[in-house]
Amino acid sequence: MKPIYMDNNATTRVAPEVINEMLPFFTEHYGNPSSMHTFGGRIGMKIKAARQQVADLLGAQAEEIIFTSCGTESDTTAIYAAIQSNPSKRHIITSRVEHPAVKNLFEHLAKKDEYRVTYIPVDKQGRLDVDHLYRNLSEDTAIVSLMWANNETGVIFPVEEISQEVKARGIVFHTDAVQTVGKLPINLADSDIDMLSLSGHKLHAPKGIGVLYVRKGTKFSPYLLGGHQERGRRAGTENVAAIIGLGKACEIAGQHMHQENTRVKQMRDKLESQLLARIPNAIVNGDPQHRLPNTTSIAFEFVEGESILLMMDEFNICASSGSACTSGSLEPSHVLRAMGVPFTAAHGSIRFSLSIYNDESEVDFVIEKLPPIIERLRGMSPFWTEAKKCQVRA
Ligand code: PLP
Repeated sequence: MKPIYMDNNATTRVAPEVINEMLPFFTEHYGNPSSMHTFGGRIGMKIKAARQQVADLLGAQAEEIIFTSCGTESDTTAIYAAIQSNPSKRHIITSRVEHPAVKNLFEHLAKKDEYRVTYIPVDKQGRLDVDHLYRNLSEDTAIVSLMWANNETGVIFPVEEISQEVKARGIVFHTDAVQTVGKLPINLADSDIDMLSLSGHKLHAPKGIGVLYVRKGTKFSPYLLGGHQERGRRAGTENVAAIIGLGKACEIAGQHMHQENTRVKQMRDKLESQLLARIPNAIVNGDPQHRLPNTTSIAFEFVEGESILLMMDEFNICASSGSACTSGSLEPSHVLRAMGVPFTAAHGSIRFSLSIYNDESEVDFVIEKLPPIIERLRGMSPFWTEAKKCQVRA
């Protein structure tokens, strides 16, 4: 049975066009781009073209693109580059709802007692408290790192606007745009964002390839030292096939973004509204007005998210009960906790994240299968029985 794959914020299917573009780089063109011979050297031209394709999607210049191994490496490189370039500054800022790629690094830096961290809170809808951020900017701040869109709820932060204010104070601004690239239009030429991270496997390129955009003129120091690759900014032999694939994925995203995202949003909206209509005590987590077009996080109160996932799995429906990195732990997600989602709702939250490869019949299938699953689970839940008694009394 073909999976009904609605877990695209965890990872995406590699586009067939991307695979076709990559294949010759495993079979015929397997040389090392750093080699002196023509066989290897020719590959440098292909990497140059891919770098331009990525830059075009971001509204950046090709020299501003550094290929890395993943979103996590891009985030780590950006944050270390900013603090190492500003050695006298000891204050760093991020939000309460970052992906572990940023969250755990900030916690690590704070633990060593070397850095004072300000975590910017969010409100009940996952919106950033921007005034809190502005009040905390100081001469001692080395970097502000904020995600562009949240991987669990899809809530979008106004990073372009924020970057202007941060930059005006001479502070480096980095954004983790791993969930944004390919889903929202981006024009870095018109923003004050200094550094931006993206990850290939979230936009139909393979796993194991990422990008760090570094605006021309931004002080930078490499995280990986070694060879001269990426103009000395990221050592290590290039993942050639994946770079070529990412270039193609960016080209496709740029060509079809508007049309495809409209279709994806329509499917997401139908899924969400029908589930809310058919299932009592279901609530959307996150600001419905400022959200990625493909994501919905729905709290089904008084049931366990893990049980819902297991029962959906019997129908080969793939979704997530939090971010991929936090599932496996029974702690409610730090994102939902930061938003103040009550325990009974946070535990029953499911994230559906769609892509261009979904179709309406799949949406209809989930709309048909999920309500009886929730009903069955609630039938076994003492919390639900208790909640219903209270509702009757009220
Ligand atoms: N940042 C965000 C917002 C993410 O969603 C993810 C992955 O889920 C990452 C960073 C890490 O990216 P990667 O898996 O490429 O290291």
